Amino acid sequence: MESIAGNLAAIRQRIDAACIKAGRNPESVRLIAVSKTKPTFMIKEAFEAGQIDFGESYVQEFLEKQSDLLLENLPVRWHFIGHLQSNKVRAIIGRVALIHGIDRYSTAEELSKRAVQQNISIEYLLEVNTSGESTKYGLRPEDLAQHAPSFFSLPNITLRGLMTIASADPALARHEFSLLKRLLVTLKESAPDPSRLTELSMGMSQDFEAAIAEGATLIRVGTAVFGWR
Ligand SMILES: *Cc1c(COP(=O)(O)O)cnc(C)c1O
Repeated sequence: MESIAGNLAAIRQRIDAACIKAGRNPESVRLIAVSKTKPTFMIKEAFEAGQIDFGESYVQEFLEKQSDLLLENLPVRWHFIGHLQSNKVRAIIGRVALIHGIDRYSTAEELSKRAVQQNISIEYLLEVNTSGESTKYGLRPEDLAQHAPSFFSLPNITLRGLMTIASADPALARHEFSLLKRLLVTLKESAPDPSRLTELSMGMSQDFEAAIAEGATLIRVGTAVFGWR
């Protein structure tokens, strides 16, 4: 079995190669190690190998891991990448650097309300269902332009970009990454402060190189770092 440090080094090399091929600066892509279902000792091992950003999908699991003594005092940057329901917002705000999976106004509204109450500022991404698969969450691509302005006006939360989970089929995935990139360009045209809209969270273990070729700035990689779930 490969070690986590070895896996991370191999992934970083692949990120660098994909960036160079796409004419991009390798520092423009941040690797998020998706640690859902994996124990905290593995997170610690990855952190000790230089990995700072981690992604979790389930609120309860995330809270338990974050308060685990093994990770105490480690300056881990947590990303919440699961589907976030309004009634779970309160549990995670203030504990994560970026929330990836917001796909409805009511959740963003709740996020904003709680952020105002706590006098903090929260960064988030809107999830778009670029594949159109009914099993996936996300705003419909054709609805984004119409819905976005209402999100922009919510206080204490900042929209930083878009997130998608692509189809398993690599040929389809490539088109979906490209679509997300174009949607971000369009979104910037209607944004009060387009300079904040910089992030494209797309690409996982099996397709992150294609996502980088299409402009991903955040890739969410689980299996290739920690092994099969
Ligand atoms: C689990 C998960 C990932 C990681 O998937 P791998 O195929 O294991 O790399 C990425 N993004 C989201 C939203 C996930 O739920």
